Amino acid sequence: ETVYLSMPSFSSSSTADSNGGDRIINLDHGDPTMYERFWQQAGDKSTIMIPGWQSMSYFSDAGSLCWFLEPEFAKEIIRLHKRVGNAVTKDRYIVVGTGSTQLYQADAVEPLSVVSASPYYSSYPLITDCLKSGLYKWAGDAQSFNREGPFIELVTSPNNPDGYVRQSVVNKSGGILVHDLAYYWPQYSPIDAVADHDIMLFTVSKSTGHAGMRIGWALVKDEEVAKKMVKFIELNTIGVSRDSQLRAAKVLQVVTDGCEYPTSLRSLFDFAAHLMEERWKLLRAAVRQSSLFTLPEFSPGSCGFLNRSFEPRPAFAWLKCEEPIEDCEGFLRSNNILTRSGKHFGVGPHYVRISMLDRDETFYIFVERLSTIHLRQSRQV
Ligand code: PMP
Repeated sequence: ETVYLSMPSFSSSSTADSNGGDRIINLDHGDPTMYERFWQQAGDKSTIMIPGWQSMSYFSDAGSLCWFLEPEFAKEIIRLHKRVGNAVTKDRYIVVGTGSTQLYQADAVEPLSVVSASPYYSSYPLITDCLKSGLYKWAGDAQSFNREGPFIELVTSPNNPDGYVRQSVVNKSGGILVHDLAYYWPQYSPIDAVADHDIMLFTVSKSTGHAGMRIGWALVKDEEVAKKMVKFIELNTIGVSRDSQLRAAKVLQVVTDGCEYPTSLRSLFDFAAHLMEERWKLLRAAVRQSSLFTLPEFSPGSCGFLNRSFEPRPAFAWLKCEEPIEDCEGFLRSNNILTRSGKHFGVGPHYVRISMLDRDETFYIFVERLSTIHLRQSRQV
């Protein structure tokens, strides 16, 4: 991420406004830096040491279907899903990828249309069309998809950007469903069912906050599909960084241990759930105060993991600008808040997506600025 102009310290009362002066607040990417504080507190528990001679071979487990999957990492994936209860792991193949981004590309065999109901994750069309392999073609909004031939429907639940729980919408056979469950963790969503789909994708980026590790995993029911995914990754990157997998295994182990053997430190999910709840409260209050925007509303659901009922608190805020603001992204940009326009998600410019996962300081400046934006609006529009 970009390094910004120096700014007064957060606690400083010397500046006239507590909304960070003119500092540019970049909430365009979903960079999960909010989690740094948890891992700093966890200290050495999550540190690993990798001697120079280790992990040198291409192979992690030569005899197994996914030969580049570290067995230690596979074990921790299963342990974590069992503990959280968010996905079935029994009788599933695990395929590891360089981020879940690589896995999502990994299951096509013939020219396929790729669709997802709008608003959809903005990287999907870019990644799909960037492959230029002739294997896939981005075919837009799943709701209006009616082409002949095989297709993939990406079902992101909870959804990026709007946070709603989703089901597949294409009413046609001959499709492969890929469930992107990157946000199906208790800090974002009540865990009300054990997900049991044919292809489910997860990533450390949004579960533990380790986006830079570039590690994701797929839980796959069908052996042939799993083999094809492995083959794709073999051709694409000849496996997945073993060092990263060892680090991911450690991090998942610390997360699951933290749930099983509570200490004075809160578990990762308690930490993040608490923070997300507080952030959504602050954001909603700021939006009410400004009366220029609206946010999605969610019904509470009961979470079998946290043992209580709560409203979803998504990793992104899908903010709508009310009339007369036409270009929400441009309006916020003129207030030094960088967001991603609804245009990139198959929706109009009235909407923007805002990351809720940035560091505390950035987030607090953002909500503070948002709550007073109407006072400066006459200067801006
Ligand atoms: N799917 C969704 C819905 C996402 O929001 C993201 C990250 N923004 C990804 C996949 C990609 O995750 P990774 O960092 O594992 O490639």
